[in-house]
Amino acid sequence: MRFSRLSLTLPWLIGSQLLAATQPVAKAPSSDIPDRREFPVNENVNACENFYEYACSNAVSAFKLRDDRSSHTFSFSDSRERILDRKKSFLKDLGTKLSSKDGLPERGKLLATVYSACMNPEARAKEERAEVQKVTTELAAIKTRPEFLKFLAQKRDAAEPSFVDVGTAANQDKPEIYDFYFDADMQSLPERSYYLKTDVAGDFDKVLEKFFTTIGDKKASASAKAVLKLETEFAKVHPLPSEMRAIWTQRSSITKKDILAKYPSFDLKAALDKVPDTANIRHFIPETYAFTEKTLKTAKLEDLKAAYAYKALAPLMDDAYPEFFNARYAFNQKHLGAPKVRPVREERCTQMVMGSYNKELDEQVLPVMFPDFPQEKFIALAEKVRASIIDGVKTNQWLSDEGRKGAIEKMTKAKLQLVKPMTEEEWYFNPPVAVAIDKPIANAQALDQALQARMYTELSQTRNRDRWSMGPLTVNAYYSSTDNKFVMPIGILQYPFYDPSLPVEVNLGAVGAVIGHELGHGIDDQGSKFDGDGKLRQWMSEKDVEAFKSRGTKFVDQFTKIGHNGELTLGENIGDLTGVTFAYRAAFPEGKGTTEQKKAFFLQYARLWCGVELPKYSEQMLKTDPHSRGYARVNAQVKNQPAFAEAFSCKKTDPMVLKAEDIVKIW
Ligand SMILES: [Zn+2]
Repeated sequence: MRFSRLSLTLPWLIGSQLLAATQPVAKAPSSDIPDRREFPVNENVNACENFYEYACSNAVSAFKLRDDRSSHTFSFSDSRERILDRKKSFLKDLGTKLSSKDGLPERGKLLATVYSACMNPEARAKEERAEVQKVTTELAAIKTRPEFLKFLAQKRDAAEPSFVDVGTAANQDKPEIYDFYFDADMQSLPERSYYLKTDVAGDFDKVLEKFFTTIGDKKASASAKAVLKLETEFAKVHPLPSEMRAIWTQRSSITKKDILAKYPSFDLKAALDKVPDTANIRHFIPETYAFTEKTLKTAKLEDLKAAYAYKALAPLMDDAYPEFFNARYAFNQKHLGAPKVRPVREERCTQMVMGSYNKELDEQVLPVMFPDFPQEKFIALAEKVRASIIDGVKTNQWLSDEGRKGAIEKMTKAKLQLVKPMTEEEWYFNPPVAVAIDKPIANAQALDQALQARMYTELSQTRNRDRWSMGPLTVNAYYSSTDNKFVMPIGILQYPFYDPSLPVEVNLGAVGAVIGHELGHGIDDQGSKFDGDGKLRQWMSEKDVEAFKSRGTKFVDQFTKIGHNGELTLGENIGDLTGVTFAYRAAFPEGKGTTEQKKAFFLQYARLWCGVELPKYSEQMLKTDPHSRGYARVNAQVKNQPAFAEAFSCKKTDPMVLKAEDIVKIW
């Protein structure tokens, strides 16, 4: 992976405005983010007919998606908007302090400088023009293929864009050390199908032509056609998102000697010299490498140069090249679900800082935003879910003894990193970087270079297994199978995910289901490949894995029928099922609880997935996101929970009720 400085498309808010309680009910839909969103159920909808509509439609119809947003899932996005708003004003304030005499502490100065540089369109435009000038001149001077290949290698070694990148990942047998890998990428659209659709490809061709005209290419139209062809051919051999998941967990290895012999055009010599001889080098997408090698060797030099120019320059061209930027943006809008308008500069620059210095920023904003979070209370809740999983495994009927033992051991050993990083190791801040107030692009390059240098240094060190991959103000959570750990930052621990003042069963329906989902990944068919220490060692028997898979396969049909890619989403759908199942058992041991409590549990679960999104955004997500869309995460899941039908007294013939033989039951 590149050391990405792509800004995440996190939304923000205009201002948190509380809805006055005395307002009449009929209100125009609003984009405002309340301190706490209300989710009144829609009494006109029967919960047994469409639970998503019952739980979500009132909140959805009261909400208007802002023009500069592609989607808004209330549970995630409300919190994100609040946090983003705080960060926006924090950085704005910091920027003004930069010029004051009082001065700022080191980290504050760094954040203020990169933010202020981003806020300066003239500085940015100047650097963009210089970068376009530099790269086009460099490319024009290249007359032979060997020169071009050398050029690509130098770019990679300087942490700048190239067709073949490098990275590290945990070793599969000794997760305390790193593997090295290389990766080839010659496509700029999200995945294969976009290239194969004639309308998309036709519009992309126009974007390319605009690009080449803009950078002064005399044969702009021919260059555009050549790049489109090259990228399309690449996309045809490159694995689909649904295939990548399995590829990552497969063992692969190649020697330095074989890399140099097999892929001479990648010119990886200088990079490999920095890799210790003892390190394993992954060889995870051989077909893609072979295609890339062949292309670099045989494609016309002019075409390769054109493809490189687009890859390296197009993402940078903004303030100095409004016409090209707008053409590219219009394409993203029409085909990829980009919002109607882009967010304002202040927000984009905040996003940029969040992308590059996420933890540095979070460390500053966290104490003012969440001064007294009930950490102990939340940890107890998370442990309750873990105990429910272990209990569920113990009483499981279909696992072999060794499978059961492995699952218990794994869940017992799992490390929970909750709320916020505690130590310097856990924080794992960026390496120091020199930044300048008038060099936004150079600042980003300097960070990429520092991260790449650190990556090489770390190849001969013990891997930091305690580090958080997300900042604590991230509204998300993750499970890492190579470290058998679950990380849940304070950012996500807001209503409707979590509210310490609510009854425990309500919190279990929401955040409990998420914890169960994430930890459940540790003992699903993928998780069964990694043991309690994060080693790639299958602890379920083959029979167990088969049983697991066959129990899940009905999901493929169920989700395909509602317009999803059943294969792509299978793993995450199983995750949701596992999450709801264990959270429910944690809330209602042996089914004990009132009907009202059970209804509240499922309702809170549904509230996690209420939201709105642009149609083209949904379309892209359906192709690339292993998670199902919100309505499916509600309706298609509750159908597989017999306790749901019972709590809501659904009839056998109701749409939210499956026949007993169609129900997916894993745990
Ligand atoms: Zn998941």
